[in-house]
Amino acid sequence: MPDEMDIDLTNDRPVYIIGGGPGGLAAAAALREQGVRAVVLEKSESVGASWRRHYDRLHLHTTRRLSGLPGLAMPRSFGRWVSRDNVVRYLEKYAEFHELEIVTGVEVSRIEPSGSDWLLHATGGRLLTGRAVVVATGYNHTPRLPDWPGRDSYTGEVLHAGEYRNAAPYAGKDVLVVGVGNTGAEIAVDLVEGGAARVRLAVRTTPHIVRRSTAGWPAQRTGILVRRLPVRLVDRVGGIMGKISVPDLAEHGLPRPETGLYSRVREGAIPVQDVGLIDAVRSGKVEPVAAVDSFEDSKAVLADGTRISPDTVIAATGYRRALEGLVGHLGVLDERGRPVTHGGRAAAQAPGLYFTGFTNPISGMFREMAIDARKIAKALAR
Ligand SMILES: Cc1cc2nc3c(=O)[nH]c(=O)nc-3n(C[C@H](O)[C@H](O)[C@H](O)COP(=O)(O)OP(=O)(O)OC[C@H]3O[C@@H](n4cnc5c(N)ncnc54)[C@H](O)[C@@H]3O)c2cc1C
Repeated sequence: MPDEMDIDLTNDRPVYIIGGGPGGLAAAAALREQGVRAVVLEKSESVGASWRRHYDRLHLHTTRRLSGLPGLAMPRSFGRWVSRDNVVRYLEKYAEFHELEIVTGVEVSRIEPSGSDWLLHATGGRLLTGRAVVVATGYNHTPRLPDWPGRDSYTGEVLHAGEYRNAAPYAGKDVLVVGVGNTGAEIAVDLVEGGAARVRLAVRTTPHIVRRSTAGWPAQRTGILVRRLPVRLVDRVGGIMGKISVPDLAEHGLPRPETGLYSRVREGAIPVQDVGLIDAVRSGKVEPVAAVDSFEDSKAVLADGTRISPDTVIAATGYRRALEGLVGHLGVLDERGRPVTHGGRAAAQAPGLYFTGFTNPISGMFREMAIDARKIAKALAR
């Protein structure tokens, strides 16, 4: 991979892609295929930085075949559920295969219009001019740790799930995992398997849990099929399917959710794919408890008033997109900080500024980023 000394960043006005994760690499490859020069600017030292940091046991919960990026399928040898290390291998190979222009160690802090071009403010006071920009800095950008009252004076260990690698440091310990999205659910199971003495899972809103696949049929394929159907219909069918395929865990502290599955997806909460949570909850190895409200010295105070003293609290409380500094002044974000456009459409007030990777569809994000990449390339090749 060339470093910044090898590429003259000023020799013409390429399309700049900010971020060398799957979204940015896919966009770069699709643009190259259309004959459009694209330069990827990546702040870390290598592509796939987010995937390198994920916890050890992580596998894609979307299938290999439905997670390939434009122009290069994932090899069969990766199996159906691709491991984190193989995702990283794939991204490295992808950049090499498509001969992408990638400059590492360059962070873009702000983007501004400059005539019909875009001016990028980057590391070291560098200014770069591009004919268009694709923002692919990631949905899972900045860890979000709730501002719990008393957290500063809490004497126990608190870490964000983004810092969790594996269960080894927690063997024999009492751990409270906060948040039951896919990450919280999987970390709880990992802790049980890795020998933690006690694992509790703090739940504010009970999640929809789906089997990763049923009789060989992956949940992702259902997600793709129902994506354009009316929300109420999918909610109803999802409710029936849920009752058939997932046992009632109410007596173990995890009742079925009251809001429909697809309604929740539309609010940004994709269902939890079961990678062992159902069994762990049924056998009592993972104990659902009420949400964390605050901390008091050595105790976590739960929403039902219970006070508990775990050795470690792991907050699987999500991430922020953190796009405000980069593009917040351009009127392209909604009130929740999400880009108002994605894929091949740019906002009227920001022609040439594209976003990929900021939606969270039921059909899988790798697949979505592949679709968006082709749309962006088509729009820019016009
Ligand atoms: C635990 C977990 C599991 C997931 N599993 C799946 C799955 O099974 N299937 C699926 O389809 N999706 C999955 N996703 C969702 C999604 O596919 C991934 O988050 C994916 O990595 C998103 O790709 P991205 O390119 O948008 O962002 P990222 O992979 O986060 O890449 C963004 C890149 O931009 C760089 N960057 C950020 N800011 C700047 C800046 N200002 N200047 C320069 N560079 C910058 C970062 O260093 C990073 O390399 C998962 C997400 C998580 C967190």
